[in-house]
Parts: sequence; structure tokens; C-alpha cells
Amino acid sequence: MISLSLAEIAGITGGTLVNSDGSAIVTGGVEYDSRKVGPGGLFVAFAGEKVDGHEFGPQVVAAGAAGVLGTRDAGVPGVVVADQLAALAKLATAVLERLPELTVVGLTGSSGKTTTKDYIGQLLSRLGPTVALPGSLNNELGFPYTVLQADEKTRFLVLEMGARGIGHIRYLTGIARPSIGVVLNVGAAHLGEFGSVEGTARAKGELVEALPESGVAVLNADDPLVSAMASRTVARVIQVGERDSAGLRAAEVTVDATGRASYVLKSGPESGNVRLGVAGRHQVANSLAAAAVALTAGMAFDDLVVALGEVGIVSGRRMDVVQRPDGVTLIDDSYNANPSSTAAALHALAAMGEGKRTTAVLGYMAELGEHEVSGHAEVGRLAAELGVDRLIAVADNARPILDGAAEVGAWRGTARFAADQAAAIEILRNDLRADDVVLVKGSRYRTWDVADWLRRSEE
Ligand code: ATP
Ligand code: MG
Repeated sequence: MISLSLAEIAGITGGTLVNSDGSAIVTGGVEYDSRKVGPGGLFVAFAGEKVDGHEFGPQVVAAGAAGVLGTRDAGVPGVVVADQLAALAKLATAVLERLPELTVVGLTGSSGKTTTKDYIGQLLSRLGPTVALPGSLNNELGFPYTVLQADEKTRFLVLEMGARGIGHIRYLTGIARPSIGVVLNVGAAHLGEFGSVEGTARAKGELVEALPESGVAVLNADDPLVSAMASRTVARVIQVGERDSAGLRAAEVTVDATGRASYVLKSGPESGNVRLGVAGRHQVANSLAAAAVALTAGMAFDDLVVALGEVGIVSGRRMDVVQRPDGVTLIDDSYNANPSSTAAALHALAAMGEGKRTTAVLGYMAELGEHEVSGHAEVGRLAAELGVDRLIAVADNARPILDGAAEVGAWRGTARFAADQAAAIEILRNDLRADDVVLVKGSRYRTWDVADWLRRSEE
């Protein structure tokens, strides 16, 4: 963060100085994990259910922290506020006001935000100092936290924006207004919150509504609900995708046996051959969005073509392909799951499993609301249609996956139900072959043990 005194922080947040005349300067980072606070840092204390962060005040100050921001006096120099999240939001806005040269990139979508943020971060880093944090810091806490990592040296700030309801992205853009906004897709994620994809589109479109006239909106030309957001922005629009109408286009897309896509990148008269480093055809769309941001930020087209082949995913459990010494291939895509990201992963499994035995270990997909049963059945049907050899559904809520697969009469694969992750591991342990390609996917932690077991049992 840029240097600010405790008095300035109190002023910005409307808080009260305690145990300090306000002259102490925060020169280090802002952290809410007491173990991460370094010398000159500001510790944001939350009172959790089990642990009250304020109790760590003396410890972090002894370790060199400049002070504590919390909702009560922690007995050390600090600022007491009514609400830490609101205080962080104000602080983030104030920091950005002091960094007028910074280019802020915001991105949203139902699937692929973190993946694409990783791509954008790596591309922009080639142009100048960039803040793009690994992981999924896209809510009221992670978002301002990311903003606060920027300082005078930073040229690009890349912000993931989650939309958990109408007005949520508007709140985030109120904290940090991007000049480049990316909307990836409006899939069937978090349908429970919105009721429909149209509702999701309304919420995600708030990003492009916030862009200034001098800004750029990067929209997915292949997703009609995203493409139509062009009418909701005053910014210049770059449509990216595979259709001819896209301004930045991927043509002649192919996927090889390693699951990686190649395509011809086209922008007006320019074109170049790209081979992506990450598996999954869906990476084409993600890479195009990142490419549009890089071009907007000033990257030369030929440099971009090379760079696109070199970027990877730094945030874990997303299309992470592990080639085991015994021949087994693990596709760990277990970070999270919804019907569209599961469909994308199943297509990658099919491409990578050509001539081999394919297994899909699929867990429960959370947050589908009234689409819960149909969403699971739909991915089961797709797995069967793609000819997956073994389908393992993990936990009761995931059972409709097997029902969906059973509807596909021509399917010759086997369907197994595992009551929990340990049971799924047992199924794999008893029958694992050198030619196995195993996809592991589910919402959050619900299949992580299975993926970790496959990693550990490598030798
Ligand atoms: P979250 O809402 O959990 O933050 P996210 O939008 O940040 O998710 P990622 O973490 O990048 O998305 O990816 C989540 C899952 O979606 C992964 O399994 C990933 O492989 C898959 N995925 C990534 N990009 C796409 C895409 N364009 N279309 C469909 N699925 C995708
Ligand atoms: Mg994310």
C-alpha cells in the first residue's frame, strides 16, 4: 500500500485513533491474517466465531506492525471503526485516488475469472509492475484487499469481481472503478442467487455500466447475453470470440491429445499462431479475453502471440494436469464446479482420453437452487454422451448425475456411486491402470481429498 499515517487512515475511514497520536506511518501491507503482517503493516482485526483477531494486537505490533484497524481498542496503536469492510472499501478508494496513473482492470463472469485473471496478470507483468493476486479474492473483503496491494510503482491492477446478487458488482466498482472491464460468460453458476441466467446477466453487466467513456469493455462475442452488454456501456467495446463478427478472434481452433488448444489469433489485418499452455478448449475464450486486455494496455500483437503460449494458471486446482510416473493422468479441476465448468472439463477429459480409459469423479455442485437436480443430471448426460468410461458420483446430492447418464441408452461406461470421498478413493484404489485419465471435479472441498489422494499415491 502507499504510505499513510494512522491519522490519515482514521480520517479516510471515519474511525477513531486509539493509543496513538496518529503520526505512526503504515509503510507495509494491509493484512487480515495476523501471521502475514510485516514491519510497518496494518493489521485488520475481525472478531470471528472462534478467534477474535483483536487479541493479536500486541503480538503484531511487537512484530513491527504500525497499528491495528478493528471494531474495538486492541490495546495498541490503532483505528477503531464501526465496520471493517466499509473501512477497507473507503481506504481502497482513497488509495486509488492517489494513484491516478494506474490502469484498473476488472473482470467478471460465471466461470474462469481467476483463470483469466492469472493470464491477464502474467501478460500485463510484461508491460509493467502489475498487481494480480493468485486465488479468488473477489468479494467485499478480497476485493479491497487486492486494491490495497497497489502502490506508486504499480501500473496495472487486476481485480476479480464476483456477483452474488444484483448490486454487488456496482458496490465493487464503487470502490474501484475499472477502465477496462471484461465479462467472460453468463453460465449456470450461482443460479440459486439469481433464479435465471438473465438475472445473472443483469448483475454482471453492472461492470460495463461502470466503465468511463475512455474505457474499454471486453465482451464474449460467443455468449449472446454477454455480447448484448455492448448496449449497456459508454466505453469502447471489443468483442472477442470465435465468430466472424468478433473484433479479436480465434480461428481454426484445434485441441491436441494433451488437451491444449491451438488457434489463429486475428485482429484486423494481423494474425498469428497461438498454442496455449493450459488444457481445455474453454481456455480459448479465457485467453482471448486476456489478449484483448493486453492489446488495450499496449502490448504489440506479435509479442502477445508468443506470450499467450507461455502463460499458465497460478491459482491451484484449476485444470491442473498431473502426469504420474505410473502413467496415470490426473486432471485436478476440483477448485469449484457448476454445470458449465463441468461441461468444459468433461470435454477436456474426452480430448485427453482418446485411446485411453477415462474416469470422471464428480462431486456435488453447490448453489444451483431450483436447478440442482436438473443441473446434475445434465452433466451426467454429457459425460455419457462423451463416452466417459467410468463415472463416479460423490455424495448423495450428486446422485442425479448417475440418473442423467443412465438416460443415454448408447452409453457403455460404468456408473458408480460413492457415499463420500473415502469411498471414491477406494473405488480408484481397487482399479487404477497406467492408461487412466482421471478428472476430479466438484464444488470447493467436496472432491479435494480425492484429488490429493491421486497426487500423493503417485509413486
Ligand atoms: P469462482 O466463482 O469460484 O471465483 P472463477 O470464475 O474464478 O470461479 P476459475 O476459478 O477460474 O473461475 O475456474 C473455475 C472452474 O471453471 C474451473 O474448473 C475451470 O476449469 C472452469 N473454467 C474456467 N474457464 C472457463 C470457461 N471459460 N468456461 C467454462 N468453465 C471454465
Ligand atoms: Mg475465482
